Amino acid sequence: MSVEGFNPFKMAQQQFDAVAEKLGLDQATRDLLRYPDREYQFNIPIRMDDGTYRVFRGFRVQHSDARGPAKGGIRFHPQETIDTVRALAMWMTWKTAVVDIPLGGGKGGVVCDPHHLSLREQELICRGWVRQIVRNLGPLQDVPAPDVMTTSQHMIWMLDEYEKITGIKAPGFITGKPLGLGGSLGRTEATGYGVMYTVREALKFLGIDIKNTTASFQGFGNVSQYALDLYTQMGGKAIAVSSWDPKEQRAITFRKKDGINFKELISITNKFGEIDKSKAQELGFEILPGSAWIEQEVDILVPAALENQINKDTVQLIKPTVKIIAEGANGPTTPEADEVLKERKIHVIPDFLCNAGGVTCSYFEQVQCNMNYYWTKEEVLTKLDQKMTSAYHSVLELANNKGVYMRDAAYMIAISRVAEAVKLRGWV
Ligand code: NAD
Repeated sequence: MSVEGFNPFKMAQQQFDAVAEKLGLDQATRDLLRYPDREYQFNIPIRMDDGTYRVFRGFRVQHSDARGPAKGGIRFHPQETIDTVRALAMWMTWKTAVVDIPLGGGKGGVVCDPHHLSLREQELICRGWVRQIVRNLGPLQDVPAPDVMTTSQHMIWMLDEYEKITGIKAPGFITGKPLGLGGSLGRTEATGYGVMYTVREALKFLGIDIKNTTASFQGFGNVSQYALDLYTQMGGKAIAVSSWDPKEQRAITFRKKDGINFKELISITNKFGEIDKSKAQELGFEILPGSAWIEQEVDILVPAALENQINKDTVQLIKPTVKIIAEGANGPTTPEADEVLKERKIHVIPDFLCNAGGVTCSYFEQVQCNMNYYWTKEEVLTKLDQKMTSAYHSVLELANNKGVYMRDAAYMIAISRVAEAVKLRGWV
């Protein structure tokens, strides 16, 4: 999805170029890593429920498979663009590298709006997407997963299509599957919980007791819901959450200054993570403009909706109380805004570290599928916590030792690992 005038791929390249320069990478490695290894763009023709035909545009980008099979989600969104998918594929490469799991980076998408599609139509899009690139996907090549507006139901349709075509059972083809059909316990919670494991560690580093903190969240989908839930369980007070209102076609911020009760908020939220405005009003929430989430006097901001949300304009709205920005979403902060955050010494937990819990758990899901033996939820979440905590501390240590910004430190670790892999393979 791209906002007019904003090109996420250019931003991803800009971030890469700056770190490549700092690391002194040779030109061939830079040329290799600043573009995807491969990308596919294709049509998915569907017979709609009313008998008419519509053609949907599908994408899959494999940025790098130097460290293992490409890995990354599939988004369904009406404003999906190839450049967004490219950027996200590249960020997946850095994400799998920074948490040190043996996978590469990929991403996919379909230009469509599930709000206006029946389940049957969505199933046909899923199956059509797989049919178009079946030869280039697989447990040992490229492993998709859910992302914005795709769920375990979409994943199982895709798996079923793949297994029908190949004639084998291959649950490791895709992750984010339903439980009992190769899914892993803890996967639903993984990204949001992972965000909060890193916030917990950041608060320890800053010497702040979580019980004395407040937070504001953008978005209330998969990532934000579990992040908010764990945050309040750990003793924090969430005071504001924003979400998209499909009726009014705008975002709304819902605020409760004395603290949001997760169970109450989830009970008035639909499956797209959209909060019901009139029910929220009945429950005593203040209704504020969509942009208000960022202007709250809180300790922690959690952008967990879209890219390009903290930019040169909105960064000015961030209150001096904010100490941590935990990037649940991919690409929420632009390089211009980063400069301001750096100057203000706000502790930013960069997206590809902060939200890496999802892909880490996806990796655990694949491992369990390969063993055909499944762990308990506690085992999964304990392993997840260990991975996230250790990745966070590696980045923090480098940031402190070299006196660099957290995002730069995370990039330095990730890009060095991928650069080393392409060198060892003899690609450049
Ligand atoms: P989701 O579709 O479950 O939820 C998206 C949320 O954002 C919804 O609450 C929606 O109402 C809200 N939203 C949409 N437009 C908005 C706007 N303009 N202003 C405010 N809120 C808006 O998506 P998700 O899976 O929670 O993903 C959120 C972000 O996290 C994305 O950037 C995604 O790429 C990233 N991410 C997701 C995962 C995962 O495992 N789900 C993993 C890593 C990163």
